[in-house]
Amino acid sequence: MLRTDQLTWTEYVEKLKEEPIVFLPVGAHEQHGPHLPMGTDAILATKMAEAVAAGLQGLVLPTISYGYKSQARSGGGQTFVGTTSLDGQTLIATTQDIVRELARHGVRRLVVLDGHFENQWFLTEGIELAQRELQASGGAMDIVRTEYWDFCPEAVLDTVFEGEFPGYDLEHAALIETSMMLYWQPELVRVDSIPQNDQASFATFDTYPQDGRGGPASGVLAPAKGASGAKGQLIIESTITAITQALGAHFQANS
Ligand code: ZN
Ligand code: MN
Repeated sequence: MLRTDQLTWTEYVEKLKEEPIVFLPVGAHEQHGPHLPMGTDAILATKMAEAVAAGLQGLVLPTISYGYKSQARSGGGQTFVGTTSLDGQTLIATTQDIVRELARHGVRRLVVLDGHFENQWFLTEGIELAQRELQASGGAMDIVRTEYWDFCPEAVLDTVFEGEFPGYDLEHAALIETSMMLYWQPELVRVDSIPQNDQASFATFDTYPQDGRGGPASGVLAPAKGASGAKGQLIIESTITAITQALGAHFQANS
């Protein structure tokens, strides 16, 4: 049993004696085009955390299923109906609260596994503030924050994009996420609605208040049309292997 929300507290106490690596997946509730569910970032972060935790005898906490505000050039922005986002301070405080509670339980090793581009610095700040508190009481935790896509090997990206990788910021509801969903949750992909648009082109600055101008109406920022379950499998399996290896080595070196 990997998931803490399916354990009893007494089973959790027993499991903690093994000093497991604990995973906190973080996603978003955000438009992902007309073909992917709004929970895509949360679904992918959760499944990735479960897969990596399985290889490291870890535990997985319930996912933070909301994320920081969608930005025009990385998620289409906040003007889409459905996108439901947190203020930065809410995400910071939530992260800090969870780390504080885990420390109280005796958790020593934590991986915050992020599936939503815009979350990164708010998760970082929550971790930093929690560490400052923990250090003041003499008990820092070994915490890793990671975006899972950073582990996808370059050779895999070359293969699935045929040398035309647009960059992760534009990979919103596009080839990577669509392929991963086609492999992991095909029943949630509206295959007939995959947009045929090409890559969005944006100004090299952001404007506020966000007005939604310039972005594709579909909400998909780069081509998704080449997506397939086979590409998803390649991305997923190589990424799981790379993350598992990197985290295993990190925690072994620090133990
Ligand atoms: Zn996404
Ligand atoms: Mn996102």
